[in-house]
Amino acid sequence: MDQPTSCLSHVLIFPFPVQGHVNCMLKLAQLLCREGLHVTFLNSDFIHRRLLSYTDIHLSYKQYPNLYFETIPDGLSDDHPRTGDRVVDLFNSIDTITKPLLMEMLIARRFSTLDRPPLTCIITDGIMCFTIDIGRELNIPTILFRTISASCFWAFFCLPRLIEGGELPITGQSDMDTLLTNVAGMESFLRLRDLPSFCRASDLTDRGLQLVISATQHTKSAHGLILNTFEELEGPALAQITKNISKLYTIGPLHVQLKARVATNIGLTCTSSSSLWEEDRSCIDWLDQQPFKSVIYVSFGSMTVLTRDQFMEFLHGLVNSGKPFLWVVRPKSVAEDYQIPEELLEGTRQRGYIVEWAPQEEVLGHPAIGGFLTHSGWNSTLESIYEGVPMICWPFYADQQVNSRLAGEVWKIGLDMKDTCDRVIIEKMVKDLIETRKDEFAKSTRLMAKLARKSASENGSSYCNLDRLIKDIKLMRN
Ligand code: UDP
Repeated sequence: MDQPTSCLSHVLIFPFPVQGHVNCMLKLAQLLCREGLHVTFLNSDFIHRRLLSYTDIHLSYKQYPNLYFETIPDGLSDDHPRTGDRVVDLFNSIDTITKPLLMEMLIARRFSTLDRPPLTCIITDGIMCFTIDIGRELNIPTILFRTISASCFWAFFCLPRLIEGGELPITGQSDMDTLLTNVAGMESFLRLRDLPSFCRASDLTDRGLQLVISATQHTKSAHGLILNTFEELEGPALAQITKNISKLYTIGPLHVQLKARVATNIGLTCTSSSSLWEEDRSCIDWLDQQPFKSVIYVSFGSMTVLTRDQFMEFLHGLVNSGKPFLWVVRPKSVAEDYQIPEELLEGTRQRGYIVEWAPQEEVLGHPAIGGFLTHSGWNSTLESIYEGVPMICWPFYADQQVNSRLAGEVWKIGLDMKDTCDRVIIEKMVKDLIETRKDEFAKSTRLMAKLARKSASENGSSYCNLDRLIKDIKLMRN
């Protein structure tokens, strides 16, 4: 008897080994497994060890017998911080250590075993576009998954044009508030200061800048491009991308698709966390004690590092705002040692709750949350949009500068605080978000949340695009 078509499809998913990328690519893995595809999820040794330490990964993913975990070194020592300010080290080590190892694994057919058919498709993080060449050599189609916003991807795509047009590099004479003319579709709001952080390099040979230019241009030779966004959110950027990339799958927000599809599948549950730090659930008990929409949730994601001065400005601003706050302060996320000043001790004790890592999706969905002070990481942005929580955006690096501009200026669901870190401004923005301007934000966040839900539910744009992706993968044969 013929095996069902899906059983012959086997996808290798390989995320760039950092929290945000692993989170959304694991969600895609579950969605594909749910459709009967075999999925090998390739983690760096470092990430996998942490998942084993801080999650019940083997228990919670047992419901997918066709999901297999494999590991590969990322080439960095265990004590390397792997933070945003050092991300180029990770790019470099993956290029020199991981890439040849992956090639060896694929040639040796390491991932096709008795229970797994040969690989029929490779989905890797778009920043690791070297897999396109490997896939071509082995005759396996490669689809790239960019975990950033479509608008940031499009800005990356336009970098050669920005350079040719003289809008980059930024020099001492550049006016950071000038609107850019070379990012089609975004001319009315994108300023020099809103370009992704890599564009701030004064030298065009900068490794980070060259890497993003090259990875983005390479996308054209991939079999397709997946973006964790939805058409109703980033229409203008997507309209431009489609002119340049033939197979585009916008399937986000993935965490919402997972919720939506699992809800219709008796026996499956939304798997628990993929956190690389231990989630401190005591913050949920604390939130339970707080009034409706009163709390500002503060988190700068998994890669941001604050200086002591910045930490102090945030603390003063939060305490002085008089609003309750829940703050995630990751171990080693403040570059220097600090002590809470005497005059803030009482206010912090009374109104603040600090944890090292929180169950963020659950926190954002809690009725006590009134706002999110965020670094505008793309996952955090989508999670906040879905829960209808307005944001104060303090972008740190990568796509975050673009995302914060979209939130503040285009979607009007938050306040963009980029390039300042001042206690008076922080205090004012917290009060504006939670109190003074709350009705204005409630209107736009409610609308956006509705659109996010709609796109991910049956017949919605992202829902249909995911179906198309699954269908296309099932047609691939080795
Ligand atoms: N996150 C979490 N708990 C925290 C802080 C963050 O679970 O205390 C999750 C968050 O829900 C998101 C991811 O970590 O899915 C961070 O990804 P994002 O793209 O927002 O930022 P990055 O960490 O990549 O800078």
